Amino acid sequence: MIKDVLQKIWSELPSGVKLVAISKYHPVEALSEAYSAGQRIFGENHVQELLQKVNHLPSDIEWHFTGHLQTNKVKYIVPFINLIHSVDSEKLLREIDKQGRKAGRKIQVLLELHVAEEESKYGFTDDELINIHESGLLSELDNVELRGLMCMATNTYDENRINADFAKAKEVFDNIKQRFYANNPRFNELSMGMSDDYHLALTHGTTLVRIGTKIFGERVYSS
Ligand SMILES: *Cc1c(COP(=O)(O)O)cnc(C)c1O
Repeated sequence: MIKDVLQKIWSELPSGVKLVAISKYHPVEALSEAYSAGQRIFGENHVQELLQKVNHLPSDIEWHFTGHLQTNKVKYIVPFINLIHSVDSEKLLREIDKQGRKAGRKIQVLLELHVAEEESKYGFTDDELINIHESGLLSELDNVELRGLMCMATNTYDENRINADFAKAKEVFDNIKQRFYANNPRFNELSMGMSDDYHLALTHGTTLVRIGTKIFGERVYSS
């Protein structure tokens, strides 16, 4: 069944768009099933859970981190993580650079753009993103590679609002790319779209859809 859903989602994605299977709170068996079907990119939101799963799954999986990351936990994932989607502060960016240097790796990251209506959502405003680029900070961070932006749309059934959020994210992405990465084709990832809104995200130029519930079913939260 996981296999059928995966095949359906893959068939819907234009070339150049990748599926990140968001497997938080789902057991290793579920990830194994998705792996057997051919899925290779998995996203997790909690460091402890991610570390436990990594040891039980094949080594050719590409692991992405998609949750709010605390600076004191960066060191645990830096040795193997392929992409951190959810960088939401300069402090976190500096810590990723520091730990990347220690691990002898350049860590690929996305900066999280705040577009949603909710106050509680993490992320930078578009002005803050411009400031980070103009401040020169990024050129000091030799062990971080900025690959693009990530966003979460407002949690609502109002498709107009979701469309507006994705359109805004695409506009900010294009603006930053044009101003600061005109000669860098590797600033090319825009992570947006989840189970309920990835069809909309596809119409706004997403390159990474992050889908959990639709693949694995409802999450069961246990302590
Ligand atoms: C949980 C989560 C997802 C997946 O959401 P679904 O609605 O289950 O597809 C995607 N992105 C982030 C950042 C998440 O935390």
